[in-house]
Amino acid sequence: MRIVLVGPPGAGKGTQAQYIAANLSIPAVSTGDIFRANVSQGTPLGREAKTYMDAGNLVPDEVTIGMVRERLAQPDVAGGFLLDGFPRNTAQAKVLDEILAENDTELDVVLELKVDDSEIIQRISGRRQCRANGHVCHILTDAPKVAGICDECGSELYQRDDDREETVRHRLDVYKEQTEPLVGYYSERNLLLPIQATGPVKEVTERAMTALR
Ligand code: ADP
Ligand code: ADP
Ligand code: ADP
Repeated sequence: MRIVLVGPPGAGKGTQAQYIAANLSIPAVSTGDIFRANVSQGTPLGREAKTYMDAGNLVPDEVTIGMVRERLAQPDVAGGFLLDGFPRNTAQAKVLDEILAENDTELDVVLELKVDDSEIIQRISGRRQCRANGHVCHILTDAPKVAGICDECGSELYQRDDDREETVRHRLDVYKEQTEPLVGYYSERNLLLPIQATGPVKEVTERAMTALR
């Protein structure tokens, strides 16, 4: 299956991507994780992306699209994938269609994770991630067994630079202006599958898996 996950920052895309991809035995591809890995390794791509990310803005399309094009040319995604964080505007969505058409394939479904703004701020302010693998948890709702250490892999947890409250509010505005129009774009093409993304993580995964079947 070729799936796109869409939803505001903090909707649980990264969290659900892990479980859904494992359930379907397809790789999850997160543009945010790829950017963060490049930033921490200090690559030219990372240096280019960092200022935009820290400000809560989208990295320019030409940079992002080049990176995604390369990633989608890898053999592991030829049989299917779950895209988390891409596309984030209609220009990117059109390029994604083109990339897939070049390979004689197309998207199967766009899963929309719906969460209210009030819950988003609470989720993101407690979010912690591990540097090694980008595993996500929450200091209150999904607390690690040992503070500061990732349950999944034992590596150190940190708070993202762009998870400060004022940056989060700006990212929500960016989502509404630039990314939310994708909901209409995909709905018109009958690809949209909206699900309520509140409640326990496991229940959201079950809701997603039921909707995908
Ligand atoms: P979240 O999980 O909070 O929605 P991500 O980890 O997906 O955030 O993205 C973090 C940042 O990386 C974004 O704010 C943006 O600067 C950059 N980014 C990720 N994906 C894209 C994309 N498709 N286009 C442009 N910028 C992106
Ligand atoms: P190639 O060596 O030509 O890139 P791969 O071994 O990567 O081929 O992929 C095998 C098949 O899957 C090819 O027919 C290719 O067109 C197709 N394919 C490769 N990448 C993707 C992708 N991201 N999405 C859809 N189909 C792909
Ligand atoms: P996104 O990738 O959409 O930005 P994340 O998957 O990183 O979202 O989740 C944001 C924060 O919310 C994390 O701290 C995560 O642990 C937490 N979270 C994810 N799903 C839920 C849920 N169903 N209920 C409560 N908290 C959640």
